[in-house]
Amino acid sequence: MTDDLGLAGTRELNRLRVMQALLRNPGSSRNDVARLTGLSRPTVSTLVDELEAAGIVEQHADRNEERPRSAGRPPMYVSLAPRAAFAVGLDFGHQHIRAGVCDLSGSPIADDWSRAEVDHAPAASFDLAHELVQGVLESANVDRRHVIGVGMGLAAPIDSATGTAYVEGILPSWGGISPAEEMEARLGLPVQIENDANVGALGEHMFGAGRGVDDMVYVRLSAGIGLGLILGGRPYRGKCGVAGELGHVTSVEDGMICRCGNRGCLETIASPVAVAGLLEFSRGEPVSVQRLLELVQEGDRGARRAVADAGAAVGNAIAAVVNVLNPELVVIGGDLAGAGAVLLDPLRTAIERRAIAPAVAAVRVTQGALGDKAEVLGAAALLLSQAPHALARRLLA
Ligand SMILES: [Zn+2]
Repeated sequence: MTDDLGLAGTRELNRLRVMQALLRNPGSSRNDVARLTGLSRPTVSTLVDELEAAGIVEQHADRNEERPRSAGRPPMYVSLAPRAAFAVGLDFGHQHIRAGVCDLSGSPIADDWSRAEVDHAPAASFDLAHELVQGVLESANVDRRHVIGVGMGLAAPIDSATGTAYVEGILPSWGGISPAEEMEARLGLPVQIENDANVGALGEHMFGAGRGVDDMVYVRLSAGIGLGLILGGRPYRGKCGVAGELGHVTSVEDGMICRCGNRGCLETIASPVAVAGLLEFSRGEPVSVQRLLELVQEGDRGARRAVADAGAAVGNAIAAVVNVLNPELVVIGGDLAGAGAVLLDPLRTAIERRAIAPAVAAVRVTQGALGDKAEVLGAAALLLSQAPHALARRLLA
């Protein structure tokens, strides 16, 4: 048990333990909390009553299960009060910014987004993000003093230990900029940065298709291609945050030069922008990613072929990941995931053809459940894990 709050007293530390147990196990009985914390049942009861009086914990009658009337007085369950604290998530894509606010239960209560030239105009992007955050806090009627902080997903490798973003060749105009400091200066709230695919993985792991799955891979097929890893139930970032740069794995030996300086990277043939670009010759006009997805829905043969080939290319790259890491689940997210089976079927087939049989038998491949909100929810979730400490500090103030 850490004591970094200066929580010298046993009571404060025990209160922290109860809040941590309830954050991970909402809807626990008092006996459950005693078991989870190792505290005695009377101690738990006293602490829960105190926390309830402070508006941090609430009691409810059941877990929505049907109980026969004859069963008598129903047992009471306790959870952290959803509106006791909030976390903000920010998702910086290459061409958009999305902001969202979650309550303590992880439920999104407001979100908004805007197009932005993130790659080329960092200062304007930070200003826009500031406006979006103010807007969502206002529309959700959230008191800023109850906001734990802001998680910020960024389409670049991030060394979370030092807060360094490796932007060279990835975000051309961001050299020498500290994104977290820029946003903290504007918002007056603590800001934590993380790679966009990593926050997408965390979002799907905590709230979406990957709930309860300890070993999963999340693939973000957006302007870039990123991969977020949850291994043994925890995010895996590698030595300095570069783990999961699937987009820059070589797919075509003599392919196009990539923005990273290498040649034939997966991103040059399978990012949504690259796939949409394949249709310009046959259609005689520029094709946006949104238009590409519409064409797929309309059954356009060329659009479906382009997306299917991208699915196979991504599947070939993921087959190696499946062999190396033996995940239980591969979640496909990002813009291109909207193409559904047209993308996923050839992607699955490629994994089946290339990965070894037991790894294939162990893995499920599915579309993300959160759509384009996976990243912003995951970014907010980065901060939710710190809620018990923030609430403990509030109780001392
Ligand atoms: Zn590359």
